[in-house]
Amino acid sequence: MILKNTSVTRNNFDDLILPFYKPSYFIPVKGQGSRIWDQEGKEYIDFSGGIAVTSLGHCHPILNKVLNYQSKKIWHTSNIFTNEPSLRLAKKLILSSFASYVFFANSGAEANEAAFKLARYYAAKKYHLKKNNIISFYNSFHGRTFFTVSVGGQAKYSDCFGPKPSGIQHAEFNKIESVRKLINKNTCAIVLELIQGEGGIIPASKPFLEELRILCNKYNALLIFDEVQTGIGRTGKLFAYEHYSIKPDILTIAKSLGGGFPISAMLTTSEVKSVIKPGIHGTTYGGNPLACAIAEATIDIINTKEVLSGVQKKLSKIIFELNIINERFKLFKEIRGMGLLVGIVLEQKFIKKIYEILYVSFLEGVIFLTAGNNVIRMAPSLIITEIDIIEGMKRFCCALEKIL
Ligand SMILES: *Cc1c(COP(=O)(O)O)cnc(C)c1O
Repeated sequence: MILKNTSVTRNNFDDLILPFYKPSYFIPVKGQGSRIWDQEGKEYIDFSGGIAVTSLGHCHPILNKVLNYQSKKIWHTSNIFTNEPSLRLAKKLILSSFASYVFFANSGAEANEAAFKLARYYAAKKYHLKKNNIISFYNSFHGRTFFTVSVGGQAKYSDCFGPKPSGIQHAEFNKIESVRKLINKNTCAIVLELIQGEGGIIPASKPFLEELRILCNKYNALLIFDEVQTGIGRTGKLFAYEHYSIKPDILTIAKSLGGGFPISAMLTTSEVKSVIKPGIHGTTYGGNPLACAIAEATIDIINTKEVLSGVQKKLSKIIFELNIINERFKLFKEIRGMGLLVGIVLEQKFIKKIYEILYVSFLEGVIFLTAGNNVIRMAPSLIITEIDIIEGMKRFCCALEKIL
């Protein structure tokens, strides 16, 4: 394996790639489990998990095997055919969820786009054309297509792109009264993340979710759970909704589903399916056999007692280590989230230093994310080892020593 500099460097980014992003100063070139290496051969412990995507770490041997195997069989057929991996994957998703039908796409935004279109289409066919209002929540995140970013709860992401889609209303997360004020017979759907991810790792409360279900039933609106970040084992259950015992009408998943290979899915009920006919929605790549084969293997591994119950154990270890760090540095006031979606809510005096903390952590060889403007986020591999947790926290400690 060649780890030395190749002929491209981080500086080339600024000359070649549109600056929608400002990537970190180093380029990862190799990953194994929860460790990644940069062009210089420097090693990092990865608590970012590719932003909650590489749920089985990097280059999991079984996923590599399945990728190789399927790559020699068939990669792509388009949707003029169905294919074996997508049917097998659909079966597994249906058997382990509330759903009876699945639609495959390629990203979280696309799965949500399909969900929002379907919610409106269902209401138009089943009730009337005016029933098209979607209620979502401030600080929510549902993707970057124009529809999904408009449904999302941060206006700054949809400003200056021309006229926004209408019929979208935003309520206060975890405040049922604010939903009651907006909902009426023209509401077709309420959509929420069970844990607001980009918004700061804020879990929905159980009473709030129960009330939303009741309101949706009363007004014939569909309840949509965006589990793009929380689905497929992230919280210690296959789906986060299982913690709440509340079922949605539509659910979307993506990030963890392919373990690093792009794929997403929208799951729904027979009732919602009843309005669908061939041709009303589509995608070229969705349900691609290569992606589905890898997702199938990912679910096979994650949907086991061993991996799912391991999530809680790993969380306990992380919290244990973080509390030791906090005794020394008084860094955070709260740890929130669920399973291995961890939000470290910084004390006021550290909020200004959040990017410095991340940067110096990189220098010390440990990778974290942010969420909102005051939360350090971790979304590591669901099978991160105890050794990697301990070593990562040791490096975090060294980083904090340098800053404070
Ligand atoms: C990441 C994310 C999305 C968008 O997924 P993409 O694959 O980037 O399109 C949507 N919803 C939630 C909750 C997410 O965390």
